Amino acid sequence: MELRHSHLILQHYFIMITIAAPHQILESVFGYTEFRHNQEEIITHLLSGKDAIVLMPTGGGKSLCYQVPALCLPGVTIVVSPLIALMKDQVDALVLSGVKAAFLNSSQSGGEQSFILQQLQRNELKLLYVAPERLVGDDMQFLRYLQDIKLSLFAIDEAHCISQWGHDFRPEYRVLSQLKEKFPAIPIIALTATADAVTKKDIIEQLHVTDYRVFENSFNRPNISYYIKPKRGYYDVLAEYLEEHKDDSGIIYCLSRAATEKLAEDLREDGFSAAAYHAGLEKTIRDERQDLFLKDDIRIMVATIAFGMGINKSNVRFVVHADLPKNIEGYYQETGRAGRDGLPSEAILFYGAGDVMKLKNFAQVDNNPEQTQILLKKLDKMVQLCETKTCRRKYLLNYFGEEAPDYCGSCDNCLSKPELQESTVVAQKILSTVYRLNQKFGMRYVVDILKGSNSEKIREEHKKLSVYGVGKDKPKEEWLHYVKELLHYGYLQASDGEFPVMKLTEKSNNVLFKAEKVFLTAPVQVTIAKEPVIYQQYAYEKELFEELKKLRNKIAHEENVPAYLIFSDSSLLDLATYLPLSKNDLPKISGFGAFKIERYGDQFLEKVQDYCNDHSLDTRIELKQPTRTKKTVTTRERPERATDTKKASYEMYRSGKTISEIATDRGLALTTIEGHLSYYITSGELDVNIFVPKDKQELIAVAVEKFGRLSLKLLKDNLPEEISYGEIRMMIAHLAVGALKRPER
Ligand code: ADP
Ligand code: ZN
Repeated sequence: MELRHSHLILQHYFIMITIAAPHQILESVFGYTEFRHNQEEIITHLLSGKDAIVLMPTGGGKSLCYQVPALCLPGVTIVVSPLIALMKDQVDALVLSGVKAAFLNSSQSGGEQSFILQQLQRNELKLLYVAPERLVGDDMQFLRYLQDIKLSLFAIDEAHCISQWGHDFRPEYRVLSQLKEKFPAIPIIALTATADAVTKKDIIEQLHVTDYRVFENSFNRPNISYYIKPKRGYYDVLAEYLEEHKDDSGIIYCLSRAATEKLAEDLREDGFSAAAYHAGLEKTIRDERQDLFLKDDIRIMVATIAFGMGINKSNVRFVVHADLPKNIEGYYQETGRAGRDGLPSEAILFYGAGDVMKLKNFAQVDNNPEQTQILLKKLDKMVQLCETKTCRRKYLLNYFGEEAPDYCGSCDNCLSKPELQESTVVAQKILSTVYRLNQKFGMRYVVDILKGSNSEKIREEHKKLSVYGVGKDKPKEEWLHYVKELLHYGYLQASDGEFPVMKLTEKSNNVLFKAEKVFLTAPVQVTIAKEPVIYQQYAYEKELFEELKKLRNKIAHEENVPAYLIFSDSSLLDLATYLPLSKNDLPKISGFGAFKIERYGDQFLEKVQDYCNDHSLDTRIELKQPTRTKKTVTTRERPERATDTKKASYEMYRSGKTISEIATDRGLALTTIEGHLSYYITSGELDVNIFVPKDKQELIAVAVEKFGRLSLKLLKDNLPEEISYGEIRMMIAHLAVGALKRPER
């Protein structure tokens, strides 16, 4: 065969030959035991020489989808990435794991660039990251150059940038259309975390891929908990939260530059490690602060949305919105920067009506009513998220066109598990007021009447109404809460228009004139988790964890790289949980690949050994089992390693004890134990049939259908006497299993 003409065939041939198995690379280089989501499927697909379009949320693990094949195949993988900062980060991380990787972009000198090109030519690189402008520059010289290089794969990161319909179009990305023509035998993987249908279609068209598969993942971020709290007096709540998370890194978003400066200063005065970041600062200052944040030398970045693009920091534990975001897209992207390492993280938004007014003004686009309408509509969706009484996660996922169960168990609404209470009198007072005001006034006016307000805006004739002042017994906020509840349950309706007025409904007539009972959610105070969530879920040595972090930071400083690139928080947590005492045990710890073990293993091991000596602790490495890939994904992921109180009850139950025996033994309430065990019904480890006879199951299911699952009391009252609270609770857990199974996509 003539070699010159066999260029294509040869490349095909190379694709088929792999120099290492994916799983082996995953373990030895990256130190992980299991692939996540559909990483393995994607990798196998690429190794068979086909193209892949990958949609995965931030933190999902996109990078491994091309980094592993890059190491399985002979030749070099070209990674196109628009974010220079991120590029350096990724290359640093690879180099720290012993992978030959480099990047090419405009920030480098000519000398540096030609050095890298030489390495490329000598086939010394496994991955080369390239900025799009470097591809197009010099009349696309680089692409011609690549013709003579042994390539394995093209990876297009942030692939939505190729599409005009995406939110971040980069004209240089258009050159990627030529890849298939110029390199027909080299597979392409395009990756993005932005998933709208038009953009997706455009990516496929622009790249001219033909033999491709689209890999989509749920956009759910199960490790992020969502909280929305009132904005009034938020500073104290925030400060208290930060006080309890002093060792964690986080981002606080504000709307304006001035607000970031002010808040950062206030926080610093209160002893927090905080700095401001916004586009108005000089570049050197911005870079410096970003660097300090990445290295954990600044804990809290108080920033405008200018901050975060290209931040790959995996141990951001919380994202706070001190001001309302303009739309859900922005909110989700910003909160998504928390918890890339998969550990529990929190998103907290402080919501106040003042922000809505402010943003409504910003949304006014001069001479463009259509655009204004679009912006206002998006803002409205954001407000609805804040006001909803149902699961926030469900609302978010639905917004992005994804189905979700009613209950996620990790948003403020789900966690507060509001019990419905009989609120007939409260409802009657409100509805009568609306009626007396001839259904012509808004929510706040109604509440002012109830409170007997002396404000000027109250009309004299209204002060003579019988309802004037009948609600003096409750604070204004509570009345507002109840009005919203009545709206939510359809006892009231708000008219359209800028100043919505309260209208009665058929349902309210039953209350006013037929004495029907009303059940509403009582106003609840949701407190944000007191301890950092990781403390609650993992039985680990806290003190050791802190020491390991210190060691990591010391090394990071010496090597001048961000700490999380040395080891992620989850790797250190693994160490502090399983206490490996010999070097042979280190490969079992997540993130400890061969190269890193060689380089850092001893130092970390020594810390663990010392700690165990001082505290007379033995290793727990035998407890470490590879996490099995679960077939049914639940949104409420059960921490595999938790030795929590639920588990204790479960094990006692398995050992043959009855529920009441466990309650006595543990000194806990019967209902608490039932709650514990119901958890294992949800997880599929216990069968509901053990606890609830079949005939009762049916009755309970019907009642749940009718009354919802919010109030156990409501269900109990509407079921036969002999059905117990425990049985209802177990059945609800059982029903949740069906709801939690994500529909096949
Ligand atoms: P994305 O690019 O999708 O935002 P990354 O590729 O940065 O996500 O991955 C997020 C984090 O998850 C990284 O710290 C990465 O090392 C880690 N990770 C990815 N895949 C795995 C896996 N299979 N097992 C353990 N950790 C993983
Ligand atoms: Zn929820």
